[in-house]
Amino acid sequence: MSASSYDADVLVVGAGPAGVAASLMAASVNLRAIVVESGPVGGKLHRIGAMDNVPGCWSTGPQLAEALTADLERLQDAGRCTLVRGHGLKVSGHDDRAELVLADGRVFTAGSIVVATGVTELSPSELEWVSAPTDFSPSPLWRATPQELTGRTYVLGADRPLGTWLRAHPDATTTLHVLCPPSDEYKAAEVEDDGRVRLVPVSHAAISRPASGDGWTVEVKGQDGTKNVYAATSILNNLGSKPAGLTGLISDGDGYHPSNQQHRRIRIAGDLRSARFQRIATAQGSGAEAVLAYYYDTALRPMNGATR
Ligand SMILES: Cc1cc2nc3c(=O)[nH]c(=O)nc-3n(C[C@H](O)[C@H](O)[C@H](O)COP(=O)(O)OP(=O)(O)OC[C@H]3O[C@@H](n4cnc5c(N)ncnc54)[C@H](O)[C@@H]3O)c2cc1C
Repeated sequence: MSASSYDADVLVVGAGPAGVAASLMAASVNLRAIVVESGPVGGKLHRIGAMDNVPGCWSTGPQLAEALTADLERLQDAGRCTLVRGHGLKVSGHDDRAELVLADGRVFTAGSIVVATGVTELSPSELEWVSAPTDFSPSPLWRATPQELTGRTYVLGADRPLGTWLRAHPDATTTLHVLCPPSDEYKAAEVEDDGRVRLVPVSHAAISRPASGDGWTVEVKGQDGTKNVYAATSILNNLGSKPAGLTGLISDGDGYHPSNQQHRRIRIAGDLRSARFQRIATAQGSGAEAVLAYYYDTALRPMNGATR
C-alpha cells in the first residue's frame, strides 16, 4: 500500500487537547489528517470550571475547548483535516500501514495513527478500598453545583478535580468530607489548607442504605484501624480515572499505553500515556510530538518500500 492510497497520512483518535495539537502539527508539516471523535471537541476541558496553568489567558476549560473547536474548523475549511464522528475501537500496525476500525464497522488506513483518547472515570466497584451496593452510582464531583449540595456531603477520593472544584466555586460554603485512601494523599496535600475540606484518611469505606430514611451510611475504617460510622446526605465520585485505550494497544503494568512500546506506526498522546503527566500543556506537547516523530522518522523516509 502506498501513501497515496491511505485514507490519511495521520489518523488522530480523540479531539481533546492532545488530538487537536496533533492535527495542528500535521497541517503545519503538510500531512493529511483525519480526526475521529466520539464526543465534543475539547474532551475533558468541558469539565474544568477554573484553571490557571495553561499557556494563554484561559481561565476555564470550556473557553479553551471553544478555541480548539475553531482550530479544527479552520483546518477543515483549509482542506487540511477531516473531522469524522465515530467511536474508535481497534488499531493495528502493519509494515505498510496503520489501520483503525470504528465501532460502526468503518475502517481507515494511514501512515500513522495517534491515539489520544485520554482517560475515563473509575467507578466504586473497581476499587478495593470501597464496597457499596451494586446499584450505587454516585455523580461526579466535577459536575456538582454548590446549590445541589445541601446536607452532609461526602466525596469518594481526593483526585485532582477536588482542587479544580474548590477554585471554580470560591463562594461555595459547603463542607466536603473527603474520604482519602493512602494512594490519594499526595493529591490531597494541595487542598488541605482549604477550610471547606475535611479530609478523612481511610483504609476502607463501606457504603450502604440506612435502615430508614434517605441518604447513605458510610462505615469508615481509618488508616490507624479505628472504625467510625457517618450519615451522608449525598456522596460524590472523585475516585480518579483509568486509561480509555483501544484494542490493539500494548499496556504497561498500570494499564496505560506508553508510546515507545507500540508498533512504530502507532503513537500515544495525552493522558493515555501515563498516570503521571495528566495536564493540558503536556497533552498538547505530546500530541505535537507524536506527529513530528512520524514526520521525521517515517514520512520523510521510505519504510519497507512504502513512500510514506
Ligand atoms: C475535572 C478536571 C479538572 C482538570 N483540571 C485541570 C487543570 O486545571 N489543568 C490542567 O492542566 N489539567 C486539568 N485536568 C486534566 C486535563 O483535562 C487533561 O490532562 C487533558 O484534557 C488531557 O487531554 P487528552 O487530549 O489527552 O484527553 P481528553 O481531554 O480526555 O480527550 C480525549 C478525547 O478522546 C475522545 N475519545 C475517547 N475515546 C474515544 C474513542 N474510542 N473514539 C473516539 N474518540 C474518543 C473523547 O471524547 C475526548 O474528546 C483536569 C481534568 C479534569 C477531569
